[in-house]
Amino acid sequence: MKTSGPAFDGRRDESTISLSTYKAYAESSIFMTTCQNYINGHWTSPAHVSSLQAFNPSKGEVIALVPASGAKDVDEAVAAAKAAFPAWRNTPPNERAQVFFRLKNLLEQSFEELALGISLEHGKTLSESRGDLRRGIEVVEFACGIPTLLMGESLENIARGIDCHTDRHPLGVVAGICPFNFPALVPMWMWPLAIACGNTFILKPSEKVPQTMQRIVALMEKAGLPAGVMNIVHGGRDCVEALLEHPDIRAISFVGSSPVAREIYRKATAHGKRVQSAGGAKNFVIVMPDADVEKTVGALKDSAFGCAGERCMAASAVVMVGEASERVLTALVDSVKGMKVGPTDERTVQPDMGALISSEHRERVAKLVDAGQHAGARLLVDGRKLQVEAAPAGYFFGPTVADQLDYGNPLVDTEVFGPVLSVLRAKTLEDAILSANRQPFGNGACIFTGSGKAAREFRRQVDAGMVGVNVGVPAPLAYFPFAGWNDSFFGDLHMQGKEGVEFYTKRKTTTTRWFGLGEGEIWAK
Ligand code: NAD
Repeated sequence: MKTSGPAFDGRRDESTISLSTYKAYAESSIFMTTCQNYINGHWTSPAHVSSLQAFNPSKGEVIALVPASGAKDVDEAVAAAKAAFPAWRNTPPNERAQVFFRLKNLLEQSFEELALGISLEHGKTLSESRGDLRRGIEVVEFACGIPTLLMGESLENIARGIDCHTDRHPLGVVAGICPFNFPALVPMWMWPLAIACGNTFILKPSEKVPQTMQRIVALMEKAGLPAGVMNIVHGGRDCVEALLEHPDIRAISFVGSSPVAREIYRKATAHGKRVQSAGGAKNFVIVMPDADVEKTVGALKDSAFGCAGERCMAASAVVMVGEASERVLTALVDSVKGMKVGPTDERTVQPDMGALISSEHRERVAKLVDAGQHAGARLLVDGRKLQVEAAPAGYFFGPTVADQLDYGNPLVDTEVFGPVLSVLRAKTLEDAILSANRQPFGNGACIFTGSGKAAREFRRQVDAGMVGVNVGVPAPLAYFPFAGWNDSFFGDLHMQGKEGVEFYTKRKTTTTRWFGLGEGEIWAK
């Protein structure tokens, strides 16, 4: 049994854990933190005494206690955010941008320690954690351009002596609810743009990865963000319900699984809020017979097994067209069999793939593979029996390739969200596209081919919002929208890019006439 370490208020060791503290986390079984909410610039203990537990997936040990905040805590956070709003929205956009320039520098200075912290609480490899943080920092960089992004439109003389212009205004208090799989990036799809646009923000991080955003919020304070502009309330379902129902919250950004995303959209819109709600995925990859074998294998492997498959843009099913299976599958299986899986909380030794987020999730993935096999899947690589001697209590699941699949098998019908690649076959590109379009999601889809004609046909016909041509993870960068379709997204305006600015602002159109203008001699010329 662990004993509790000192309460973590996000400020220790220059706002991030030091390497020695990190080592203590990683090596000791007696160190544990207690997370606190961050409201109005103060770290506070929530009204409720109950707490949730967050684990280090590499070791299967509790590393943090997470407050299960409720309606009273949400009320406090909303009151703080509401009070901070008038001054923040009246802060000129270029001054708001300065906070983000400073924050960007602080994030760079703490980059390695933040990445280590992500690996510790999520289980992904250090290089994947660096990618998670880097993509998040890119949104901060995008937010630095907020004066330009907020510029309106105008047209003079829409009628004689009358001009018209539109400008953008922040919504007020807005909230973000996040999944576990990108502890830095997904929250950073939300708050940098929301706050840069002049809103004040309440973040509910995933209760499974509560610490990364605590550390980043401490840096925001250091960057000069006024109290109350950014607030954190930790918790689970009760906390989410309170956010959805609160009358003073104007908009909700949500990212998580599709059933929850759909319900969030329904409830929050019923409470009169603007909502962007991103859900799950089942991303199909089509491999044509003319694909470059080596490059396709590398990209497929990275896409399917990177972040242990816990990526909403992961390749989950691959459709081999014609002879592609003979050319690509053997090389893929050989390469996957060589992957090293292990703990990611030791800085020095990094595996190719880390652990899953929890023992329950590992159990779920194993059961889906069992069911898939029962329904006829042939397991070319079977990750169920993997033992990691270095960390026997970690939540590891080996990379798995399941062949001979089609719809009707749970490995094709379900979002697995683990390191499992399902292999389907098709005779033609047309059949492969029909297959990719049968699933209800629409996040990402990729094709590997040497043919421009096939790529163009795929790009036009595939029913997904983010498409890769010879790219395995076509996740758009900060200046583009992260644009899932169908059951992968509920709402109209996506995260990031100009759509993100659109989501967090409302337009005002002003029509102006000054009497007496247009009558003098100068106008006659
Ligand atoms: P999840 O849906 O279980 O949880 C997401 C958030 O919702 C968490 O903060 C959680 O506390 C809260 N929550 C969970 N159940 C709830 C309920 N019944 N009522 C109210 N709130 C609830 O998702 P997860 O397991 O944390 O994340 C994995 C999922 O997120 C996957 O399905 C993945 O595809 C998806 N995801 C999608 C995108 C995207 O851009 N489309 C990006 C990342 C992750």
